Amino acid sequence: MSHPTLLEQLQQDGDFLKLTLSNPNALEPFNFSLPDDTIVCIWDTGVICFEPKQLTHQDIVLSCGVHGNETAPIEICADIVQQVLTGQITLKHRLLVLFGNPPAINASKREIEENLNRLFSGQHNDTAVTPSAERERAKKLEGYVGQFYSSSRVTDLVPRNRCLYDLHTAIRGSRFEKFAVYPFLHEKPWRKAQFEFLQACDVTTVLLMQTPATTFSYFASNTHGADAFTIELGKVKPFGQNDMTRFTKVCTALRQLISHDTVQTVAFDEHQFQLYQVYRAINKQTEAFKLHFADDVENFTSYPVGTLLASDGELEYRVEQPGEALIFPNAKVAKGQRAMLMVVPTTVAGNVV
Ligand SMILES: [Zn+2]
Repeated sequence: MSHPTLLEQLQQDGDFLKLTLSNPNALEPFNFSLPDDTIVCIWDTGVICFEPKQLTHQDIVLSCGVHGNETAPIEICADIVQQVLTGQITLKHRLLVLFGNPPAINASKREIEENLNRLFSGQHNDTAVTPSAERERAKKLEGYVGQFYSSSRVTDLVPRNRCLYDLHTAIRGSRFEKFAVYPFLHEKPWRKAQFEFLQACDVTTVLLMQTPATTFSYFASNTHGADAFTIELGKVKPFGQNDMTRFTKVCTALRQLISHDTVQTVAFDEHQFQLYQVYRAINKQTEAFKLHFADDVENFTSYPVGTLLASDGELEYRVEQPGEALIFPNAKVAKGQRAMLMVVPTTVAGNVV
């Protein structure tokens, strides 16, 4: 026991978020067991792994705070960890919970130096760029996810079910309050069971990606074959100002996921979902880049074909497709980066199992 006082404190109040935020840059690893023999391993600040005595074939990763000011998911994950540590939830499956960017959480900022959720799948190694705290953290988080998925004590030949749900809140309001990004599967079919789980989480708007990305969820999906999603749960609010009643369904579904064999879901019916795919990304090319709609426009807003959306010096971007909708507009990004994503309605078109 390298940290008797930290350990005692954690066993007493189960407040791993507090422990993380008071040691935002690093935490010496330490282990202990819960009364039901679940092994708890603290691997680093914001990184806590649980292994129940009886093992199943399910490995679950929940992450939050990849953007430091997205507080609702941080509160949701902190509560779950606390309930496991204090015995209010009995885990059924192995669970890794990650608080992505503790220094940014402390600063109530999306990021300290750069966007952590653009640095995965090795993007953190780009030697042409100055190292940043986020690059270091992305590399470590990749390592912890790999360590978790590869370190189960079960060694039979049954394939393991891996999942990773990376929880976020958006900067702006959304026509559909909650939505998920389903990473590009390289032509493999989308999974009905995952749509069903998302619906149980109150998420029925899903953006089906058609290209690789440098997000945490694409990394888990592509590198580790996990069912992985970026899940946007609503609009960013400061700590304590989130209306937690808006998250009842997702909290219930996550608790069921970690503590039961199955989650209560209804059979997948595409018509109960709003499915979108990316039509184009609009990148900021000059400092003259300007959005031509109000600052508070909601994600998934659409305008008639021909409407001017943005200008960039001489360049003009107008709505090209019926139903084309905008998401994640942000004129303040660095030159060369994505300022807005345009999406269009789509279907799973039978490519679902
Ligand atoms: Zn985010």
